[in-house]
Amino acid sequence: MPLDVSPPRGRYVGRFAPSPSGPLHAGSLVAALASFLDARAHHGEWLLRIEDIDTPRTAAGADGIIMAQLDALGMRWDHAAVWQSERHSLYAQAFARLQAKGRTYGCTCSRRDLAAGPYPGTCRPDKTTGRARHQPHAAVQPSWRFRVESGREIFQDRWLGPQSQDVANEVGDFIIRRADGLWAYQLVVVVDDAAQGVTDVVRGADLLDSTARQRQLARALGLPAPRMMHVPLVLDAEGRKLSKQNHAPALDLADPLEALQDAWQALGFAPFPAHSRDVFLGEAAARWAQRFP
Ligand code: GLU
Ligand code: ZN
Repeated sequence: MPLDVSPPRGRYVGRFAPSPSGPLHAGSLVAALASFLDARAHHGEWLLRIEDIDTPRTAAGADGIIMAQLDALGMRWDHAAVWQSERHSLYAQAFARLQAKGRTYGCTCSRRDLAAGPYPGTCRPDKTTGRARHQPHAAVQPSWRFRVESGREIFQDRWLGPQSQDVANEVGDFIIRRADGLWAYQLVVVVDDAAQGVTDVVRGADLLDSTARQRQLARALGLPAPRMMHVPLVLDAEGRKLSKQNHAPALDLADPLEALQDAWQALGFAPFPAHSRDVFLGEAAARWAQRFP
């Protein structure tokens, strides 16, 4: 599969990219519904990508459960779903391209070496001398970091408006390949969105902070950056993001229509009556199109 696919203008390709660490819960349904409705509202395609690259966190069978849940909710995806675990060669190709451009370096800092906050560039080789402040530990498997650009990264978010982040000062050079050999989320999401021709990313606001990093990676790889929309997160009673980690219950699909209505209202829309799932989705897409043309 080629790495460079830029979407023809005017075309809309969206995607839902769940990590199969468990079944969908009320929070992940909100992100799924928002991206589904945005794709429908734009008469676009909606792709499903299973982000099972973080193998230690992948739960066996969760992918199948997520697909069955989407099915029960009437949210059908276009084309065949893809699994990141089957796409290593694509990520290796992108990594090699970054290496060839001098945008990567090995880092052997231990967790103890790193204070909270931006990575201080301890292992970054100086552009002229080629020497790092600290010699890498030869006995340690390095992780690989991406050498970020300085300056503010500025972009529009279709939900949140203008955004900017100084990646060098707020994040620092970040890991794209882990010491255990696994590809980092930041890299694979950029490679996959481009390879799948995704024009529009609609996802939870917890990922807003990753967007500037992803734009820098896309630029370094010569890939287009998709339009972005970050939708509000569903919080639990303690104000934490609903997630597998804090034991959000799996969606109860005894009544798919009710689950859809709840997700719709979590997005801040007023409820409306609908007697079936499919009628609901059609009407919701029409209302979405009015608000987000
Ligand atoms: N797999 C990520 C998650 O479930 C989403 C990635 C994305 O939408 O960019 O949090
Ligand atoms: Zn380091």
